[in-house]
Amino acid sequence: MSGIEFFARVDGRAGVQVMLDANVASVRVDHDGEKPVGVVTLAGGTVVAADCVLYSIGRSGSTETLGLAEVGVRTNDRGFVLVDEHYRTTVPTVFAAGDVIGFPALASTSMEQARVAMCHAFDLKYKERVSPVLPYGVWTIPEVASVGETEESARAKGLVYETGKGTFRGNMRAQIIGDLDGFVKLLFRRDDQRLLGCSIVGEGACELIHLAAAVISFGGTIDYFIQGVFNFPTLSDVYKYAAYDGLQRLAKRVSRMEGLPEGLPAQHE
Ligand SMILES: Cc1cc2nc3c(=O)[nH]c(=O)nc-3n(C[C@H](O)[C@H](O)[C@H](O)COP(=O)(O)OP(=O)(O)OC[C@H]3O[C@@H](n4cnc5c(N)ncnc54)[C@H](O)[C@@H]3O)c2cc1C
Repeated sequence: MSGIEFFARVDGRAGVQVMLDANVASVRVDHDGEKPVGVVTLAGGTVVAADCVLYSIGRSGSTETLGLAEVGVRTNDRGFVLVDEHYRTTVPTVFAAGDVIGFPALASTSMEQARVAMCHAFDLKYKERVSPVLPYGVWTIPEVASVGETEESARAKGLVYETGKGTFRGNMRAQIIGDLDGFVKLLFRRDDQRLLGCSIVGEGACELIHLAAAVISFGGTIDYFIQGVFNFPTLSDVYKYAAYDGLQRLAKRVSRMEGLPEGLPAQHE
């Protein structure tokens, strides 16, 4: 089950219906007596009626009235300011960072981009680029966070990977705080177990994800989680069981390939 499917299932219990792969064909306003009702028709013909409809599809830069063209600062067709890898615009003495330059348009990255831009503007050497390892966080209930590759992106790049998953349900801290809906999913290279990516759903996911980001940044393997000692009881400990699970899957795959009885013992709880 993917993170978003898991999220949809959890939210379903909270009375929220998440419809995946659903394209909107039309939106109109009907009336229930005096009361206006938003009616959304999906491409498959399903009709969803609601008190309010929030339609959210991408962002664009609000730059058209700034007179940028007059001074030579170029923008693209969505109004985003064009910059190079130093956040320098088409006017060398003008820098731009944040939402106004487009993706990923997050507070976290915007601040880093601005710091890098200032370092280049004032020729300071200590911060030359924004880290390519970007954590993403969604402050929903439960929280969702990810860093690095996903299975989809790894497949697209032809990476040979394995996954490992640890659940909150088997974690003591999660049991104490009563947040059992969650998991840590690791994605690592099959040949040397180098960590490629991590997705987390559950309480504290947006904090927990930084541990995976650090391991990826330093080129570490899932062995870090196997060998490392984690405070107990903590949610971070789920990383360890995700890594065990990954090793177990790896061993099973090798056994299948070699026609041997399947390898490691069942996941340690
Ligand atoms: C609802 C929502 C939730 C979000 N949640 C998250 C989150 O959880 N985590 C995260 O990392 N990011 C989040 N973001 C994205 C994050 O807010 C932005 O990426 C971030 O604020 C970008 O910083 P910025 O400095 O580029 O732009 P802004 O924060 O938008 O700052 C631009 C400033 O310029 C001012 N301004 C605009 N035009 C002019 C003008 N002509 N003259 C003078 N001043 C002007 C604006 O008033 C504003 O103060 C969220 C965004 C939204 C809308």
